[in-house]
Amino acid sequence: MDADIPYLLLTPGPLTTTRTVRAAMNQDLSTWDVDYNSIVQEIRAHLVRLATTKPGYTSVLMPGSGTFSVEAILGSVIPPDGKVLIVNNGAYGERMVHIAKRLKIAVAPIDQLETEAPDLERIEKTLSTDTAITHVAMVHCETTTGMLNPVAELGQLVARHKKKYIVDAMSSFGAIPLSMEGLNAQFVVSSANKCIQGVPGFGFVVMPQAEIEATKGWARSLSLDLYDQWREMHEKGGKWRYTSPTHVVNAFRQALEELEEEGGVAARHARYKENHRRLVAGMKGLGFRCLLPDALQSPIITSFHFPEDKRFTFNDFYDRLKRRRFVIYPGKVTNAETFRIGNIGNVFPEDMDLLVHEIKSVIGEMGVGLRGEIGSLA
Ligand SMILES: *Cc1c(COP(=O)(O)O)cnc(C)c1O
Repeated sequence: MDADIPYLLLTPGPLTTTRTVRAAMNQDLSTWDVDYNSIVQEIRAHLVRLATTKPGYTSVLMPGSGTFSVEAILGSVIPPDGKVLIVNNGAYGERMVHIAKRLKIAVAPIDQLETEAPDLERIEKTLSTDTAITHVAMVHCETTTGMLNPVAELGQLVARHKKKYIVDAMSSFGAIPLSMEGLNAQFVVSSANKCIQGVPGFGFVVMPQAEIEATKGWARSLSLDLYDQWREMHEKGGKWRYTSPTHVVNAFRQALEELEEEGGVAARHARYKENHRRLVAGMKGLGFRCLLPDALQSPIITSFHFPEDKRFTFNDFYDRLKRRRFVIYPGKVTNAETFRIGNIGNVFPEDMDLLVHEIKSVIGEMGVGLRGEIGSLA
C-alpha cells in the first residue's frame, strides 16, 4: 500500500488508483482543443481494441456514473416498439428493470434470487414464446453478490433467437478477458472507475458501428442520447456534445497505458485472481463463510456471511478495519447478512495477506467467535 494514501479501498468502485493516474488530473484541458480531442480518440480506439480484434466496431464515452451509460443504452438502442428481456439476479439487473420501466420500455424481467445463477432454460422458453422481445440484457459480474453470470452461454442463446444482446460488463471489463464476438454481444458497457482503474466520471459503450447507426432518433432522452453522443465524437474527431470530464478523461488515458504496462487484461485478470484466492483462503482460514459457492464466484468482489456471534456488528468491524487502513463494503443481499470485500484496483496479493492478518486482530479485539471457536483466534 502506498504510504501517501490514507487507506486502501476494497470496494466495487471507485477503487484505489495509482499515484500516476491521480497525477494525470493535474492538467486543465479545453474541450474544443485538439490536444483533448485526440486523447478522446485514442481512448475510444483503445477500448475497441480491448473488446475485439474484428473490424467495424466503435465506442462512445458518456458522462456520469456507470448507471448513466446503462440508461443511455436501454433508452437509445431499443426501438419504440421494442421489448427487452432483462435477467435480474441482483441489484444491477434489477436497476436495469427499473430503468426500462421508468422509460416506459416494454420489459420481460426474469426475476431470480440473488444467489441463483441465471436460469437459461427459463430464458430460452421466454424468448421462444414472447415474440415481441427484440433485446436481451444481462449483467456479467453481478457486483451485488460477486456472482459471475454466464454471459457467453446466454449470448449463444440470444444469437440463435436473433435478438440484440446488451451486456453490463461494468465490473468485469478490463479484469476478465472477453470479446464482443465471444459474447455474441452488440453492446458492452463499462465505466472509468472500475477495472481499468481510472477515476469516476464517465462510462463507455463498445458496439458495431452499424448497430449504433441504426438507432438514430430512438433515444428517450436528450443528454443520454447514445447515438447523438456517438455521432458528435465520430464526426468531430473526439468532441463531446456538452462539457466533458476532462481531468477524468486524462486520468483514464493514463490508466489504459498502465493496463498495457501490466501486461493487458490477461495479466490484470491473473493479479485479481491471486488477490481473490489469498483473500478467500485467508478468510476461510479464520472461519468466515462465503455467500456463493466457488463455481459462481467472480475474482472481483466477494460476499461473506456475518459471523453468527452477535458481538459482531458491521459498523464496529468496518471502523476498526478502517483505522487499520482498509475500507470494505456493506452487503447488498436481501435475504442474508453479509459484507463485501473487493479485490480490484491498485491492490496486490500482499495487501490481501495484510488484510486477513488485520481482520484476525480486529475479530479478536471485538471478542467475536467464528464457528463457536471463541478465543481460538488469538
Ligand atoms: C458499478 C456497477 C454499475 C454502475 O454503477 P454506478 O454506481 O452508476 O457507477 C452497473 N452495473 C454493475 C454490475 C456495476 O458493478
